[in-house]
Amino acid sequence: MSESTLPAGLPVFQPGWVWLCGAGPGDPGLLTLHALNGLRQADVVVYDALVDTTILDLAPGAEHIYAGKRGGKPSAKQRDISLRLVELARAGKRVLRLKGGDPFVFGRGGEEAQTLVAHRVPVRVIPGVTAGIGGLAYAGIPVTHRDVNQSVTFVTGHDQSGEAPSALDWDAIARGSQVIVIYMGMKHVGRIAASLIGAGRSGDEPCAVVCEAATPRQRVLETTLARLEADIDAAGLEPPAILCVGRTVLLRQVLAEPWEAADADPLGTRRLSDAG
Ligand code: SAH
Repeated sequence: MSESTLPAGLPVFQPGWVWLCGAGPGDPGLLTLHALNGLRQADVVVYDALVDTTILDLAPGAEHIYAGKRGGKPSAKQRDISLRLVELARAGKRVLRLKGGDPFVFGRGGEEAQTLVAHRVPVRVIPGVTAGIGGLAYAGIPVTHRDVNQSVTFVTGHDQSGEAPSALDWDAIARGSQVIVIYMGMKHVGRIAASLIGAGRSGDEPCAVVCEAATPRQRVLETTLARLEADIDAAGLEPPAILCVGRTVLLRQVLAEPWEAADADPLGTRRLSDAG
């Protein structure tokens, strides 16, 4: 791809700046133009475990520094990563901090931005497509649908210590959220499903698990809340995965392979006017 294919007016990456940038869930096609513009100009790309490595090929001239942490491991190194960014910026580098999905959605982007600002390092934030929206879309699941939900809740399945988050009020979430999208939910999936059922959700409620969404390795499991944990085990599914609880999952029957589903109506709500 040549420089000229980017639209005019995108910013020049100044030395000493950090661009805190979302990489999307996998597919490089989900990068923003700002992200691509940053990749082309960066001196160094500091990237996370969840950044698809094909995206790094878009910055062939830059140094690539891996700063990954995978779920459950101690988060103490977060401070080191932030300080490393400060150091690189102070050395006059153009630093692209590339994070999976969106940097501000369960990605500690806010903490990194705070440290940079506290050290007077100029920072630009570039949002990305978050896995809980774009990853589900790649599995044929709309995160909202007019006939199903007027709200959606994004939750994390574990907290800093790797435990199921104690601050979450699962009863309130079960009662108030028509669709629940769970990040980092695989480790405690049994407890999460039991909490939701205990709070009144039906064990028959449709659920989906989307592993390595928007990559060539994407795997999708459709099941129910009651069978969620057992079916994940039986299928041998591993993180990273997004869990979705709610009836929007049924739309997958139409959207996953739309060319075969012209007559499908999984919600039983299709309007005659929509069909023609
Ligand atoms: N900032 C990221 C989320 C980081 S938290 C975002 O906006 O998407 C890490 C969790 O995100 C993973 O445990 C998983 O639940 C989810 N995740 C990120 N990328 C994913 C992908 N390609 N497929 C499935 N889940 C993904």
